[in-house]
Amino acid sequence: MPRSKAIKEGRKVFNNLYYFPENQMLDCNQYIIVDQNSDELALFDTGNGASLKGLFDGMKKINLDPNNITKVYLTHEHVDHVLGVYKIMEVMKENPPKIFAYGDTANILKGGNESKIFPGDWGIGPEMFGIEIEPLEIIDLIGLTEVQIFPGFTFQIHYTPGHSLGSISYYEPNHRILIPGDLVFTGGSFGRYDFPGGSLNKLIESIKFVNNLDVKYLLPGHMGISENGNQQIELSYRMVRSIRSFY
Ligand SMILES: [Zn+2]
Repeated sequence: MPRSKAIKEGRKVFNNLYYFPENQMLDCNQYIIVDQNSDELALFDTGNGASLKGLFDGMKKINLDPNNITKVYLTHEHVDHVLGVYKIMEVMKENPPKIFAYGDTANILKGGNESKIFPGDWGIGPEMFGIEIEPLEIIDLIGLTEVQIFPGFTFQIHYTPGHSLGSISYYEPNHRILIPGDLVFTGGSFGRYDFPGGSLNKLIESIKFVNNLDVKYLLPGHMGISENGNQQIELSYRMVRSIRSFY
């Protein structure tokens, strides 16, 4: 696996929300919310660890200080979304951010369960990203219906399995933001359901659920983002149901 130093070029989605698109294999899109009162930053998903330097460089380029990351929110337990946590804990050990995850994702990271972080038979391991998996301190979001990340940004927590056991979607109704991890993507695409812990039926149910939310900003774990969220989710919902009809 290339330990890419390529800078992750960020851009503003609106106001205090930034988008850092994935720029290498087995990485993910990342999102940052800035607290306008304190300059604190919240980061959604951490990438694969090898890409963290590129994120930090991209942040500095647009005047976001990585040292201000105080909270990290994970969408699900897969390598391309969580390995960066270990790197963050290493480089920010003086002042580590709090790490939030839900249910199975929280348990997998608390237990250092490598086989769930690397699902299926990819023939890769954490060492390829310069990471060692170890038990982490995680704040479990299970049981919460919403979480105030910063004033003006209160996200609902929705359990949306199908892609993985611990998959959640973060939904902010005022700005109409959906951060669904790998549940649903733009362009009619949707998450894989063939990994252990995945389920096509659950995926369809979860996409059906988010299809009923009022979404402007669709900010998925891979591929592009959209400001026509509902239109894009509807498209994915139609596509995923057409798959089921093959079986
Ligand atoms: Zn995934």
